[in-house]
Amino acid sequence: MNEVKQKILVAGTGPAGMAAALALAKMGRKVFLVGPGPNIQDKRTTALMRPALDFLGRLGLAEQIDRVAAPLRTMRIIDATQRLIRSPVVTFHAAEIGQEAFGLNIPNAELNATLAGIVRQCPEITWHDSLVAHWDLTADHAEAQLADGTVLRASLAVAADGRNSPARAAAGITVTTRKLPQSALVLNFAHARHHGFSSTEFHTEYGPCTQVPLPGGFRSSLVWVTRPNHANELAALDDDTLSRRIEERQQSFLGKATVEPNRQVFPLSTAMPARFASRRVALVGEAAHVFPPITAQGLNLSLRDVMDLAQVASAYASDPGATEPLRHYDARRRPDVLARSSAVNLVNASLLSDLLPAQLARSAGLGLLGSLPHLRGFFMREGMYPGSGFAALLPDFLRPSRELLP
Ligand SMILES: Cc1cc2nc3c(=O)[nH]c(=O)nc-3n(C[C@H](O)[C@H](O)[C@H](O)COP(=O)(O)OP(=O)(O)OC[C@H]3O[C@@H](n4cnc5c(N)ncnc54)[C@H](O)[C@@H]3O)c2cc1C
Repeated sequence: MNEVKQKILVAGTGPAGMAAALALAKMGRKVFLVGPGPNIQDKRTTALMRPALDFLGRLGLAEQIDRVAAPLRTMRIIDATQRLIRSPVVTFHAAEIGQEAFGLNIPNAELNATLAGIVRQCPEITWHDSLVAHWDLTADHAEAQLADGTVLRASLAVAADGRNSPARAAAGITVTTRKLPQSALVLNFAHARHHGFSSTEFHTEYGPCTQVPLPGGFRSSLVWVTRPNHANELAALDDDTLSRRIEERQQSFLGKATVEPNRQVFPLSTAMPARFASRRVALVGEAAHVFPPITAQGLNLSLRDVMDLAQVASAYASDPGATEPLRHYDARRRPDVLARSSAVNLVNASLLSDLLPAQLARSAGLGLLGSLPHLRGFFMREGMYPGSGFAALLPDFLRPSRELLP
């Protein structure tokens, strides 16, 4: 068989790119991975749900992740707006759906370092510490010229090269982007009271201020979505003042807060490509979808991109970058990406909207969630295993077995 057809090139060494390289290599593919060394300066944490963790476990990360992550046992939404119509507090317990935890909160630096360590030990992967400078995409193959002069040729190019994806542009895939009137301030902080492995979102008129537990009980990460000016002002405060602001914003529910060094501000935007694959390029991660960091969906969705891509590449082993497998991949990813992106954007829009009907709808929706255990169970299952909320509503004889769920 043509040797090029056996090769896959992954552009981008964020978590999506490294996971894609590993998943494809595990299926016996020769993989070129192109991008800089892992980002271990990233101070964010990522909440990953059970299916994403199971997938990373199969890639060999389970032990290292368990060592550095905190379980998410409870999630709470508190309406902290000053609006006329406010929603009741809604609390989701993993135990309600028979789970010990919804997932784990993992420091990005540790996740990236762990992925990179396993990638470097994988004999099927050749890591080129460079950038793709130019793409040449033909009907027969994808060719990448790297900044260091290397030329690589493969059947399939995986665009894991982030929100501005040069590979996506080279494939002629158009993208609809929207800058949001919000930025996220991200930091870690210590607190006087034990977090009980709960995550709490305080919803404000400008976005949620979300605390997510870190290991040990008395430290958490914070993602405070607010107006860009406000995020920058907060980030510029001295430690004591910022700590007080965080404690006030969170209504002192964790007691005295003490911020740790390093603050990051991320301007927020959305992006949706017209398609998820074309001309020997398949999109994964933020090349395929960008939305605000609300309800912790981004990397969970990216890992589902990778799982689907690995399955399609395996089904079309003789030439995974040909037109038919790419059409198949596009069809598989479209409903999941559209559903998740729309849901997150809708939640965000309902927070920002001053319109009374939007506030009423939000309040009524959260009110129902708070009072109806079955509805809460449905949303919790859907959040963890897409499709399983619907499955749980079916009578037993129509219910797919657990193995069929993602
Ligand atoms: C504040 C914040 C909090 C978040 N929290 C969560 C959460 O709790 N749960 C969750 O699931 N998601 C979360 N997300 C989303 C998650 O962080 C992203 O989905 C994820 O980081 C995207 O990873 P990626 O690998 O697609 O992109 P990136 O991490 O951006 O990686 C892109 C890579 O491409 C490389 N690259 C660029 N150009 C080239 C080129 N020409 N050649 C080769 N390589 C190139 C870059 O160097 C980089 O290595 C959060 C996001 C934000 C902003």
